[in-house]
Amino acid sequence: MAVTGPWRRAASGAGLLASDGSISATIFAEMSALAVRTGAINLGQGFPDEDGPMEVLEAARGAIADGTNQYPPGLGLPMLRQAIATHQERFYGIRLDADREVLVTAGATEALAATILALVDDGDEVVTFEPFYDSYGAMISLARGIHRTVPLHAPDFQPDLDQLRDTVTDRTRLILVNSPHNPTGAVLPRETLELIVELAHRHNAIIVTDEVYEHLTFEVAHLPIAALPGARERTISVSSGGKTFNTTGWKIGWLSGPADYVTAILAVKQFLTFVNGAPFQPAIAIGLGLPDSFFRRAAADLEAKRDVLSLGLAAAGFTVSRPLGGYFLVADATPLGYSDGSELCRRLPELAGVVAVPISAFVHEHRRADYSSLLRFAYCKKVDVLERAAARLAELQH
Ligand SMILES: *Cc1c(COP(=O)(O)O)cnc(C)c1O
Repeated sequence: MAVTGPWRRAASGAGLLASDGSISATIFAEMSALAVRTGAINLGQGFPDEDGPMEVLEAARGAIADGTNQYPPGLGLPMLRQAIATHQERFYGIRLDADREVLVTAGATEALAATILALVDDGDEVVTFEPFYDSYGAMISLARGIHRTVPLHAPDFQPDLDQLRDTVTDRTRLILVNSPHNPTGAVLPRETLELIVELAHRHNAIIVTDEVYEHLTFEVAHLPIAALPGARERTISVSSGGKTFNTTGWKIGWLSGPADYVTAILAVKQFLTFVNGAPFQPAIAIGLGLPDSFFRRAAADLEAKRDVLSLGLAAAGFTVSRPLGGYFLVADATPLGYSDGSELCRRLPELAGVVAVPISAFVHEHRRADYSSLLRFAYCKKVDVLERAAARLAELQH
């Protein structure tokens, strides 16, 4: 590839640029292709294999039939912005002005991209935990920011708080926090969230939260940083309907925060997509207003799926993490005699008819060795699919 340009920074920030200058396919694309080629069960990519609530799907069909098919307003349809504000108050007691403090985006991905591009300048530091969702590294690099990370450690994937204190400095512009966490399933406890708020104050940093799994927590309730004392005035909260309503292909996301920040982010966002998904916006608004029983059941169903896959992987000989939220668990292949997770992922379809992705795909190159034996498995799949995967994985020991 001889084309020069900033795209190289995006690829490099996500760990996709080889030393010879070539760009490699993401491990997700490679593993999904492998699943198709071999007929293996794909637990590599994190998308659900069942439709979400009927009311939400019907509302989108109805909106198309009713002619909600042209550009919505730049901030998003008022109905959805109001539903987001109502949702934040109902679940977290956070009061928002739906006309000034809420912005609808093309998924959480665009909310994060526009936020980073709007607020990170050349040489500004952005602190995230590591492993991290791959778009973070790409966007920080594209914005010419410097990515500083705090490692999360097995088995519970929590950070060392002294390391967190040392990593946030006066050079830090953003602290980008993802809880529940992809790829590890970790949920940060209140103590850690409070420290993040304290550090943001001390170093005049802005907090950006990625809360796409906010309704998919087990045993613990989701606590948004913006709900903590002193956090609101410097926190941009990002979420999305994709994971909550099994509508990952609709790409309806949003952010909320102080009006000045929303205006600054809108200045970038309006030239990325301008707007998206007109008929899906009222449908997600309906979803956000569903009764508590819907949200409880979505989490309980996913927790049961986590348990099916966890038991299967443990029986197969892996050491399995205990995720408290999200779509994914981490399995350590060391007890099975495998130390190279990337290598095992490439062989897993042939060995066990299952596809996973290595955790090393979510860390910077210099840290790959620390995570090399770990694999990420998605459990957001039908129970019978997970049971079949578990049965196949049991073959690994024979
Ligand atoms: C899926 C996911 C996203 C992307 O959300 P979209 O709404 O599909 O753009 C962002 N962050 C994390 C941690 C995710 O797992």
